Amino acid sequence: MNITDNEVSAIVKQVVAKLQLAEPKASLGIFDDMNDAIAAAKEAQAIVKKMPLDAREKVISNIRKKTIENAEILARMGVEETGMGNVGHKIMKHRLTAEMTPGTEDIKTTAWSGDKGLTLIEMGPFGVIGAITPCTNPSETIICNTIGMFAAGNTVVFNPHPAAIKTSNYAVNMINEASVEAGGPANICCSLHHPTLESSGVMMHHKDVQLLVATGGPGVVTAVLSSGKRGIGAGAGNPPALVDETADVRKAAEDIVNGCTFDNNLPCIAEKEIVAVDSVCDELMRYMVEEQGCYLASKEVQDKLVATVLTPKGLNRKCVGRSAKALLKMVGVDVPDNIRCITFEGEKEHPLIATELMMPILGVVRAKDFKDAVEKAVWLEHGNRHSAHIHSKNVDHITEYAKAIDTAILVKNGPSYAALGFGGEGYCTFTIASRTGEGLTAAHTFTKSRRCVMVESLCIR
Ligand code: NAD
Repeated sequence: MNITDNEVSAIVKQVVAKLQLAEPKASLGIFDDMNDAIAAAKEAQAIVKKMPLDAREKVISNIRKKTIENAEILARMGVEETGMGNVGHKIMKHRLTAEMTPGTEDIKTTAWSGDKGLTLIEMGPFGVIGAITPCTNPSETIICNTIGMFAAGNTVVFNPHPAAIKTSNYAVNMINEASVEAGGPANICCSLHHPTLESSGVMMHHKDVQLLVATGGPGVVTAVLSSGKRGIGAGAGNPPALVDETADVRKAAEDIVNGCTFDNNLPCIAEKEIVAVDSVCDELMRYMVEEQGCYLASKEVQDKLVATVLTPKGLNRKCVGRSAKALLKMVGVDVPDNIRCITFEGEKEHPLIATELMMPILGVVRAKDFKDAVEKAVWLEHGNRHSAHIHSKNVDHITEYAKAIDTAILVKNGPSYAALGFGGEGYCTFTIASRTGEGLTAAHTFTKSRRCVMVESLCIR
């Protein structure tokens, strides 16, 4: 039988595809069964809780080092596997996670000392934490969660998003390698080869899991909060950026477009729409289009985008985290490479404005005055109480907006990512507990309060 060149190349392609789909080789911390993962994390936690803080810090330093060394691999893998985001920005996100996620220094003791003795509140670990992670920041969330949870003396079992499992498990293996190299145990974080809704159900109801942490959309947060266990819910947002008449409008245009386009709008804190007061609205849009690489979409293009990026069941996942250029191409519009965002003016109810798209599409809602702008922004945030932003030099306006919108994050006069410690003060996290109120999580969030009372001694004042 003769075989043509084309047939040979087809066979080679099939074999390569099969090899690529083959099971990854056994890695540190990755299991087939959720019960086994939890048992391994429990065993590791028995060691971790006895480790001095100094020994925990050695492990954390090595996790930080390896995260920086692997930042590019993780960024490329994340974009390749999920089809979402921007490699350069994901490298920056990994560096930020490594450098700015708090470790053991975040855990503080409170003391009362007096005639009746000495009382301490010590912050101790929960034990094994069950965590669910999103596909939008997969490895960043796993690394950030593990640093904080481990610093507090816990170990963690992840049920990662199946669409980002390769990237998530690469991070899990890397963290465990870092722990073992620095003298800690393996399995300080665990995961599954094939996480499912069923395996997350096992995790949520397992007797050896003491705390649940969900980072994702409304479905997962509700599931965790209905489990009967203590849950930390880091849910969805739809952050509006309000621009009032006192703002530096040119800078506002630059900050808002920079924040909105970071990692193609995947971060939950990123600007998702603008509400601008009438007197500055035209000027703002002019700067966005003329200086900040925004494409002004006609009504026809907006309609095509609505039909493409939204489906009757919600977001078209093939559009989430894509660049503006790629989204426009999907609706038959070719634009140069410098176009990084899509804009248009619309009512707040416009589906591209009211929906949390996670795409660089930035609709602008015109408000007749500041009061109207606040009302529109509060409506657009949908009561998530997650993130909001404002560009204003009027302290009274900023205060009024902050009180009305009541979000875990409010960035004033800067891009949204300043809230992650990127160009703003403060630490970094990828789990912002908006629904349950812990706010920006860190090691202290993953602790239990314990009161230690020494009666009539140890007060040496
Ligand atoms: P998603 O809700 O689709 O998935 C998140 C995780 O939850 C995944 O691991 C998924 O498998 C799991 N999941 C979903 N429904 C579940 C259920 N009923 N039971 C158990 N597990 C379930 O979200 P995504 O697309 O991966 O991420 C984007 C969403 O997450 C956006 O809404 C974004 O705002 C939000 N997010 C919030 C934060 C935050 O810190 N508050 C951070 C990142 C992302």
